Amino acid sequence: MAQIRIENVRKEFGPFTAVQSSSFTIEDGEFFMLLGPSGCGKTTTLRMMAGLDLPTSGQIYIDGEEVGQKPASQRDIAFVFQMFALYPHMNVRGNISYPLKSQGMKSSAVKKQVEEVAEILGITDILDRPVGGLSGGDRQRVALGRAIVRDPKAFFMDEPLGALDAEFREHMSEELRALHDRMGATTVYVTHDQLEAMQMGDKIVVMNHGVVEQFGVPQDIYDWPATKFVAQFIGSPPMNFLDFDGMIGTGGTEVRLNDVILPVPKSIEGANGKLTFGIRPEHVTLDDSAAYRGRVIATEYLGTTQIVTFDTPNGLLKARVASHEVINTGQAIGLRFDPRTITLFDATHGGALR
Ligand code: ATP
Repeated sequence: MAQIRIENVRKEFGPFTAVQSSSFTIEDGEFFMLLGPSGCGKTTTLRMMAGLDLPTSGQIYIDGEEVGQKPASQRDIAFVFQMFALYPHMNVRGNISYPLKSQGMKSSAVKKQVEEVAEILGITDILDRPVGGLSGGDRQRVALGRAIVRDPKAFFMDEPLGALDAEFREHMSEELRALHDRMGATTVYVTHDQLEAMQMGDKIVVMNHGVVEQFGVPQDIYDWPATKFVAQFIGSPPMNFLDFDGMIGTGGTEVRLNDVILPVPKSIEGANGKLTFGIRPEHVTLDDSAAYRGRVIATEYLGTTQIVTFDTPNGLLKARVASHEVINTGQAIGLRFDPRTITLFDATHGGALR
């Protein structure tokens, strides 16, 4: 088990900066997600922590020891990649044993350790099968077995479930999380899937264009996004943004949206200029007594809820409401926003006002 800390880590590839100066700490035993869109620098960050790429500047600590310039082989860690290449000429037992044998472990000890790992992963009955004919799930378990058999300090996983279909992916993600909870080893996991990150992670780092936008527990990232990018990337449908020219005086607690005065969550002193009003679809309530109104332009049925899209004086807005509410296209409806759930952003740089 290990604590991993990165401090002001930066990576350049020639003139291109893939990761801007980044700092965060992964606590011992955490299941930690590196989340962001394609090209944001999450794989590069993982590779630097693992020792596959060396940082251009900054420090990486594993259990307090600075390892930034050390190769992967000196970091006592294990990888699980998306393309889990197994050795095709060996059976399952051979594949899982390989890391132990190459360390020179005695065969009786290897046998015992491999059988323990097979038991944890539920693959005891296929230990002597060739890997060629295995299902995708069993191949993934064998790849995991090969990673965990050495009992490393930390696991690094780069989109390990990326190649699987949706149903199986969900099953494997539950298995992986349960395996982590049993073994308790620090795990760093790269994904571009916000739902996977929210479901599996103890903590999440959200990256965009090589920059750490936010770092925290899933609920804080969802409820208190630090930037417009995070608010949009997390949640489906994402947070609504309504742009307006705002002015909130010293001690102000209201914003004027069109001609309607709305309360804001807390006192935001002196904010002015172009502001963006952010509200999640589930925090919009339909209420005909509300002064702020929108016209329904579409409804999307999702089982217990429906997503209603409104045209408002400040742009399009989506609300998630119960499916049994009868809503017709073209109808004008009053919209109410719970002030505790509103986030205001500076429209120019996208930072949340707190
Ligand atoms: P993806 O999910 O698509 O892998 P990512 O968030 O993991 O995306 P990275 O693989 O870390 O992103 O890449 C970040 C940026 O750095 C990308 O623009 C990529 O093209 C660039 N990059 C990565 N590796 C190299 C390299 N060896 N040489 C040059 N540029 C690179």
